[in-house]
Amino acid sequence: MHFTEPVYRNPYWPTWPLLEITSGCTHNRCKFCTMYKGVRFAMAPMEQIEEDLAEIAATTPRARTLQLLSANPLALSYDRLAPILEKVNEYLPNIEHIYAAGRVTDLRNKTVEQLRALRGLGLNEISMGTESGDDWTLDRINKGYHAADIIEQCNKLDEAGIAYWHTFLNGVAGRSHTREHALNSARIMSQTKPMLVGTGGLTLFPGTPLLEEAERGEFDPLTEREMLEELLLFVQNLTCDCYFVTHHTIGGINLTGPNFLARKEQIVAALQSELEHADMDALAWRRSQKRTL
Ligand code: SF4
Repeated sequence: MHFTEPVYRNPYWPTWPLLEITSGCTHNRCKFCTMYKGVRFAMAPMEQIEEDLAEIAATTPRARTLQLLSANPLALSYDRLAPILEKVNEYLPNIEHIYAAGRVTDLRNKTVEQLRALRGLGLNEISMGTESGDDWTLDRINKGYHAADIIEQCNKLDEAGIAYWHTFLNGVAGRSHTREHALNSARIMSQTKPMLVGTGGLTLFPGTPLLEEAERGEFDPLTEREMLEELLLFVQNLTCDCYFVTHHTIGGINLTGPNFLARKEQIVAALQSELEHADMDALAWRRSQKRTL
């Protein structure tokens, strides 16, 4: 198999075979991310993709699931993606479920009909690192799109029958816009129909522009308590039903699971209790030990 580092494997579907059809990230400019620094975005040659498919077919001939690499393989045009997915179906005739990470902007150059055709070839789940639904925040972190783009592209995915995830990046707006980030993210994500909403907390990794800005006093990061307050505000205002994922394990309760709306009160209560009882120094220490997104 051919893999270009770094390889980010979806932690929720860890056993799926991985197929590298691209390396790197087309954008590579989000202010909190260094994951693909130094890796030029490139499409894998078709011969390499076929070699890897042959290897997967030899070792896992009944594979029904597949994760496409790397950061945003769906940036490829429809005319490049469709032949790759046709090859996947040729080598893996039992394939049912193809997943990829992607950016909102990757969908701009595809029509609903083209997305529907990709869905017909097995592409039925995309996780988007949406991060925020607040335009000020999206500009601040250099995401390269606005809230209106999120709605427009998600509507296309709904029409095409492709499921998608949103990620809310807790803390990324800093102190000045924490409220707008929480409220507008909840509002915009609630105007779409995600299968999953995940939340992750901002960690300022070495080498990120956001850490440099924080060191110069230009970015005011939230404390652990403020992060939790922002997360609570986001959850209180999120009104779409979805599978809800959070990396916080609160008071021994894992808040991750399906049927968000039915569990919302329980999640809100757990976050409120965490705000009252949690050891914020321990949370800060745990964050300081993180090395990657
Ligand atoms: S967060 Fe995602 S889109 Fe942004 S630079 Fe990192 S990999 Fe690329």
